[in-house]
Amino acid sequence: MTETHSVLNQTPPMPGRDVFSQDTALREAVAAFGGESAVPGLSTVGQAAGEPIWRERGLEANRDLPRLQTHDRYGNRVDEVAFNPAWHELMRFSVEHQLHAAPWASTDKAAHLERAGKFVIWTQVEPGHLCPISMTYAAIPALRSDPDVDTSWIDGLSASSYDFGLSNPAEKAGLIAGMTMTEKQGGSDVRQNTTTATRQSDGTYLITGHKWFCSAPMSDVFLILAQAPDGLTCFIIPRVLPDGTRNVFRIQRLKEKLGNKSNASSEIEFAGTVGLRLGPEGRGVRTIVEMVSATRLDTVLGATGLMRGSLSQAIWHAEHRVAFGAPLIDKPLMRNVLADLALETEAATWLAMRLASAVDAAEQGDEGARLLRRIALPAAKYYTTKRSISVTAEALECLGGNGYAEESGMPLNYREAPVNSVWEGSGSVNALDLLRAITREPASLDALISELGAARGASSEYDAAVEALLGEFGDITDLEYRARRLAERVAILLQASLLLRYSPSAVADAFVASRVAGDSGIHYGSLPRGVDTQEIIERARPVK
Ligand SMILES: Cc1cc2nc3c(=O)[nH]c(=O)nc-3n(C[C@H](O)[C@H](O)[C@H](O)COP(=O)(O)OP(=O)(O)OC[C@H]3O[C@@H](n4cnc5c(N)ncnc54)[C@H](O)[C@@H]3O)c2cc1C
Repeated sequence: MTETHSVLNQTPPMPGRDVFSQDTALREAVAAFGGESAVPGLSTVGQAAGEPIWRERGLEANRDLPRLQTHDRYGNRVDEVAFNPAWHELMRFSVEHQLHAAPWASTDKAAHLERAGKFVIWTQVEPGHLCPISMTYAAIPALRSDPDVDTSWIDGLSASSYDFGLSNPAEKAGLIAGMTMTEKQGGSDVRQNTTTATRQSDGTYLITGHKWFCSAPMSDVFLILAQAPDGLTCFIIPRVLPDGTRNVFRIQRLKEKLGNKSNASSEIEFAGTVGLRLGPEGRGVRTIVEMVSATRLDTVLGATGLMRGSLSQAIWHAEHRVAFGAPLIDKPLMRNVLADLALETEAATWLAMRLASAVDAAEQGDEGARLLRRIALPAAKYYTTKRSISVTAEALECLGGNGYAEESGMPLNYREAPVNSVWEGSGSVNALDLLRAITREPASLDALISELGAARGASSEYDAAVEALLGEFGDITDLEYRARRLAERVAILLQASLLLRYSPSAVADAFVASRVAGDSGIHYGSLPRGVDTQEIIERARPVK
């Protein structure tokens, strides 16, 4: 046998590490927002995330995809989905480490901050299974909004046990929730829903119609919208009824998707399906919007995790790959690219964690935090989910051809990125929601001004940009046409304000120069001269 060659100059696998402690921006953000109590839990999840076996499970769950089983071998309709064991291991880990609904039951003042950090970290392992984890988290605010709700739902969703399979929810150790609103004729405009709900003498409703997107259809319970006699109403749909029989929940087919492949997303039909009203008839949007705003935060966290995971791989590769006589990381142009990606990721991290800390503060009755979250979340969702698409693409390219190969894991991140922009209100819908926040709750604009004001005086370019933004809000002509522009500026200035207050000047100055003052090109790697790429990249290195 003739040896053909030796393998040279390939990047070694990353060693086991604590993904949390190596993420300087995340660590500092947790500390800045009062998350000392969160550190042990974050380190536990961070260490698991740094074990190669978990990422391998994540890749496996995306290779061996969920399979629909409409009928059993005898022809009975079962409407189940089968998953690779790796999926269940990921789900079990996330539930047991309380990435789901547990924080709502906690008295810790940083419970949501801790969960947010875990979500950013665990996205780097596998993002798809975090869809049902996120919906389980998000169901609680909607359930809590109805004082008459059966609280056993809340207890079941908050329990830290993963108990897969369709059986009586009252007998399960833990529950998972889904949410389905989107129908064929309309997703953003749910008022077009045609699914109907007919009131029964026992107080329940019979639901008939369809949903065009229903992710995680093996969840135990769903929140849905349907037209009741008094208008669009929110309903709880259990997959198994209290007597142990299955509710009608026909899974028509699973979607073939661009990414998010480990997660089953289905089309379903309701035909005399039993629903329990949640909130008053005709107030369905108001009820379910509580759930949507919590899942929106998770799209920001998910986008941040995808950026951080991709950037880590890009820096690691550039440190070890030699081209034209030196490691790639020593090449000035590669440094420009990596520093630019690191700025984007650090800015997203601070903004995501700031919004998570606002959830904790709002839970403790801080009205200013609630208002800030109301106005900042749609802007952050709009902006960071879009940025993560280009960050994952650019980071992939840092690995050259290896980045395009599935086994690098970069294609998984790249394919996943756009979904955060599409679901929970697509880009323009979130930009318009920013305007709605100001119209419906004008005090939210004051909360934004106050947050931006905290960094005033730190940079003349920043001060001028804040003035310009307020001028744009003051001009009420063509607001809808300008909504994306406004959302973008709000998000960038919120990020700048956080970096100016909390990050080293190397990071804040480069961010202000490139994003606020606009001295940068359209693509990453076009930072202006004078940027301290050394410090920016050093902070972002995944193995220090
Ligand atoms: C993988 C995946 C899983 C999903 N899972 C679920 C699920 O579990 N449950 C669920 O309910 N839904 C789910 N969805 C659906 C998703 O929430 C919707 O696709 C999304 O809300 C957009 O709705 P739509 O597809 O009907 O598009 P449309 O509402 O038709 O929107 C099309 C485009 O028009 C834009 N647009 C809409 N209104 C305006 C306006 N006034 N001005 C300017 N532009 C506008 C939108 O931003 C969008 O870009 C999922 C989607 C995906 C991709």
